[in-house]
Amino acid sequence: MTDILILGGGPAGLTAGLYAARAGKSVVVCEKEGFGGQITQAHQVDNLPGLPGISGIELGDKLCAQAMDAGVETSFCEVVGIHWNEDGTFYVETDDGPINARAVIFAGGAKPRMLGVDREEALIGNGVSYCALCDGAFFRDRDVAVIGGGNTAFSDALVLAGICRSVTIIHRRDSFRAEETVVQAVKNTPNIRLMTPYTVKELVGADQVEGVILNDGTKLDVQAVFVALGRVPDCSLIEPLADLDEAGYAISGEDCMTKTPGLYVAGDCRAKTIRQLTTAMADGTVAAMAACEWLK
Ligand code: NAP
Repeated sequence: MTDILILGGGPAGLTAGLYAARAGKSVVVCEKEGFGGQITQAHQVDNLPGLPGISGIELGDKLCAQAMDAGVETSFCEVVGIHWNEDGTFYVETDDGPINARAVIFAGGAKPRMLGVDREEALIGNGVSYCALCDGAFFRDRDVAVIGGGNTAFSDALVLAGICRSVTIIHRRDSFRAEETVVQAVKNTPNIRLMTPYTVKELVGADQVEGVILNDGTKLDVQAVFVALGRVPDCSLIEPLADLDEAGYAISGEDCMTKTPGLYVAGDCRAKTIRQLTTAMADGTVAAMAACEWLK
């Protein structure tokens, strides 16, 4: 029986692991994709106080190493079911076998929001991407588009501008969510152009992206489309045990506990107003300390 099982090895989950392990609890963190979470896709992180300019990959590695040094056990597996037992413990099914735990912290983050056009899914890996840092190098010296107007879209465009011949940011409004410093950096980069207010209506190309058609019928010849429309939560695994808000985020108290005693949520999957690296880490801290207290 593990004291605390944490689902999700991003900043929220690894911070929770660090705090719980340092409090003397046995902790397993389950992660199905890559430890470090979505922050590892950030080329550079400039808003983590005390560590300006750290790369997302380095930050992810450091978070993981620090948690493991503190005694966290990491498991590269997918959680497929979370069941609450009548004695108050949890039976967690993974693709690597079951784990029994006295408390669970769900830090499953969020997945990329899809563009929502025909054949988007079929063209993933063939010109449709949700990660500029992962896939940008495949489009060296080519023309690409980035869809979105937030920090991810603008940071992605800056990364891609160093690799690709041209980058076109397509955004549905004339103003941006991205921070002003990043917007200025984009405006000062000669091979990035901004197209607003436009949406993508269609992807062109049978087996490989060859272009996009915009809402006014304009066709742009691009060989890749980087979709950066924010993220959506996937809390289906805890849905029977936690209430979700209308957008699908898990509702919890200030101590991050859901309506099920011993089940906590932390990070981007939690219903709250600000989703940042720092608030994910803060959730991880609060959830871990609340879980430790609850286990007493
Ligand atoms: P975001 O801030 O939510 O921006 C999503 C963008 O996609 C918005 O411009 C939005 O348009 C657009 N959008 C959403 N749905 C759309 C649709 N169906 N069709 C067309 N456009 C759509 O997401 P994000 O950029 O991924 O950032 C998420 C969080 O991570 C933010 O808090 C951000 O600051 C943070 N972040 C930080 C860093 C960093 O510090 N290095 C890097 C990346 C992200 P509207 O504006 O019109 O709604």
